[in-house]
Amino acid sequence: MPIPSATVSRKLASIVSEKIGADIAARGLAEGELVGSEAELLAQYDVSRAVFREAVRLLEHQQSARMRRGPGGGLVVTTPDGESAFNAAMVYLLHGRADLDEVLEVRLVLEASAALLAAERMHAAGIAELNALVQRERKGLQADARDLHGLVARLSGNPALDFFVDLLTRMARVFTPDVAADDTVVRDATCGAHAKIVQSIVSGDGATAATRMERHLRAEADYIAAHLPSSLRLGSVFSAAPADQKLGEHVARAVFADVVASGWRVGASLGSEAELMAHYDVSRAILREAARLLEHHGIASMRRGPGGGLFVAAPAIDATSAAAAVYLDRRGVQARHLFELRSIVEMAVLERVIDRLDQPMIDRLRAVQDVERAASTDRFRVVGHDLHVVLGELSGNRVLALCTDVLVRLSRERGAVPADAPDAELPTTDVVHTHDRIVDAIVARDSEKARARMNRHLNALARWVR
Ligand SMILES: [Zn+2]
Ligand SMILES: [Zn+2]
Repeated sequence: MPIPSATVSRKLASIVSEKIGADIAARGLAEGELVGSEAELLAQYDVSRAVFREAVRLLEHQQSARMRRGPGGGLVVTTPDGESAFNAAMVYLLHGRADLDEVLEVRLVLEASAALLAAERMHAAGIAELNALVQRERKGLQADARDLHGLVARLSGNPALDFFVDLLTRMARVFTPDVAADDTVVRDATCGAHAKIVQSIVSGDGATAATRMERHLRAEADYIAAHLPSSLRLGSVFSAAPADQKLGEHVARAVFADVVASGWRVGASLGSEAELMAHYDVSRAILREAARLLEHHGIASMRRGPGGGLFVAAPAIDATSAAAAVYLDRRGVQARHLFELRSIVEMAVLERVIDRLDQPMIDRLRAVQDVERAASTDRFRVVGHDLHVVLGELSGNRVLALCTDVLVRLSRERGAVPADAPDAELPTTDVVHTHDRIVDAIVARDSEKARARMNRHLNALARWVR
């Protein structure tokens, strides 16, 4: 048997890490629980120790599991803090050159919905928390104006929505300068807007809360647009590596900044191993540690041999979806949360698609329908979700497209037959028919009908997801 090359064993490691991740989710293991000892897992996944350890490194980097040494040790489930998903999403969006406008547009949609849901689901403890925060802001004791937004998202009662609001708030931060902190006019305006938003949330007036949140974020977006920084703050990206990888992480971040600054030209050389060791003044071991992180994120990849070195790569959306899936799984996200958020996101998608609809877009939708109609039941499990993903892309907002993709993937991965289903098969012909009716309404530019049909469709689908 030929000895597998470094690239092949890395690919294998990432497949194994995905399998382990899926098994953790399927077994419903909670934080601190043992997945298995090294010996057990080596046998179960039938891989070499080297590949297994590489897989463990990836899981540790994702913060989804870690190796516990000593007697009774083995792979133990951990809970990611969201950094990993944030890093992956950030890398993906920077590569796709999503701009601040796109981030802010989606943030507006999600936060208006969060305010609406928070008002509808308000309870005494939430009211007390909101009022206390407004009081602290008034007295200048609340250092971070973003806390209010985090609190409203949490009070929406939907952990998936909470996660995406947090993600977009952090993303906006990468693009924006820190000038607001010492600008008293801005601070007072923010304080006043927050107080009004809170007022309508605690009084249970969701519609007004949503409108006020929207107005507030629009004002903030205008302010940000007028004060754009000259460079991105990438320091907040990549901060999740374990302590023993700090130096490698530091080098990885420097390379990442170079890749972004030079326009993300996929395939471009970043230097040979020797050149990079000299440039960053690090050992071969540290450089390879950095290369591993860069490869994990799809930022760059190392080619061995003559003419080799580090080359700019293209991140895959899978890394973002996988990281988000792990995070949401551990936080107990349920189908109803997923579909409530999908409804918010996909309504925004439909509106934008109908707004900018042209013939090439219609052709693209028709092509998706053709593939669906021709698909076997097995194949449909894969292509049956494509319409949603394609609509996300056609929205023209790359952040919205990413959100859609992550949510659709999560729904697909968690596909399950409901206990009360008449038979064990997804009603494929029903889905094809429903998709047809949604596309018909889009092509007719009938936004109301398209939204109503999509909403009904998502409600029906939620039963088939656990
Ligand atoms: Zn605010
Ligand atoms: Zn569908």
